[in-house]
Amino acid sequence: MSDTRSDTHGAPAEEARAAGIKTDSLTSASQASEATQEAELEAALVAELDAGLAPYAAHSSQSRGRRFAEPPPSARSEFQRDRDRIVHSTAFRRLEYKTQVFVNHEGDLFRTRLTHSLEVAQIARSVARNLRLNEDLVEAISLAHDLGHTPFGHAGQDALNECMRGHGGFEHNLQSLAVVDELEEHYGAFDGLNLCFETREGILKHCSREHARQLGELGERFLHGRQPSLEAQIANIADEIAYNNHDVDDGLRSGLLTIEQLAEVELWQSHYEAARAEYPQIEGRRLVHETVRRIINTLIVDLIGQTRRNLAAHAPQSLDDVRAAPPLVAHSERIAAQAAALKRFLYRNLYRHYRVMRMANKAQRVVKGLFEAFSDDPRLLPPAYQTQDAQTQPRLIAHYIAGMTDRYALKEYRRLFVVSDEV
Ligand code: MG
Repeated sequence: MSDTRSDTHGAPAEEARAAGIKTDSLTSASQASEATQEAELEAALVAELDAGLAPYAAHSSQSRGRRFAEPPPSARSEFQRDRDRIVHSTAFRRLEYKTQVFVNHEGDLFRTRLTHSLEVAQIARSVARNLRLNEDLVEAISLAHDLGHTPFGHAGQDALNECMRGHGGFEHNLQSLAVVDELEEHYGAFDGLNLCFETREGILKHCSREHARQLGELGERFLHGRQPSLEAQIANIADEIAYNNHDVDDGLRSGLLTIEQLAEVELWQSHYEAARAEYPQIEGRRLVHETVRRIINTLIVDLIGQTRRNLAAHAPQSLDDVRAAPPLVAHSERIAAQAAALKRFLYRNLYRHYRVMRMANKAQRVVKGLFEAFSDDPRLLPPAYQTQDAQTQPRLIAHYIAGMTDRYALKEYRRLFVVSDEV
């Protein structure tokens, strides 16, 4: 072993010394050859990661690249690097304390945006792996898809959108993009996380034509009716699968929904009955969980099956073909109708439940109160969010509020509105 090494490394150095050649130039030459070897290994790794993928998958080696050019990553693919940057971001950690449906402090077992995002990633990866699509990309998109959510879930976003009427509005999808493109402060060379085009495209699920025009390359598909990658399409549907199921679970756990109410939902009832038939002795949480896992499984298996049929029918040969085709990731008609019925049920019985409405109403008052106080006197804002430019001040206030966790927003509200010794 040591002989071989001295043949390749030690011997030329000695020869060089004997020949009177300066050794540091040789060291740099051998460093250069090591670097070449490393680059070759990197290329082999990326080729290997891409090799098992379907031709219409998003291949890391063929990414449209980043906004700011960077050297290729070491020991991982471009999309793995995106995923890692997302996990290490500040906005990602904040998801732990942001509401999904239930305000964070209502109970320890309810989903937060963080556990929701992890469930989306789990579902999306299962689907992607089955279809030989890029698991790393689908994971990156899933983990980042809610980074722009305000505190207090949709109630918070609606309130902030109202506050921003006349200043360009507020939309959580665009905010997620703002987080990864501008707002994270982690890197010396650029603002944001400088993610790949394909990851950013997946984060931007929808967008108005007006915004699309301002977004350049990223907005083009909204103007020309084209699709994003299959990986982005999967993350989008995995989001729905995750929240429909965990909202049923959380709804039952909170007591806002009952098993009796759910009997009208075919997707629930068929699996509930199947679970009871197989395990007549189980009840309570265990029976609920046994039912929910069956629903998730049915949705995933159906999604994979129908998407395979769509792929066979349209036969895309590349990611470009996917972009030009209609949406290919889809449920069968029968299961899509069942999932839509569940969604309608949740809307009527959970999202419009008077106790959820009370939380939402309170949340709106907090968000609007904060926005008004900061707009009336921007000197109340932390200095990083103050500007002399009256045109951009509202957007900076929106960035500040959107970044807050539920409990931080409540604390900030108390600091501004409750007369106490808290400053
Ligand atoms: Mg989501």
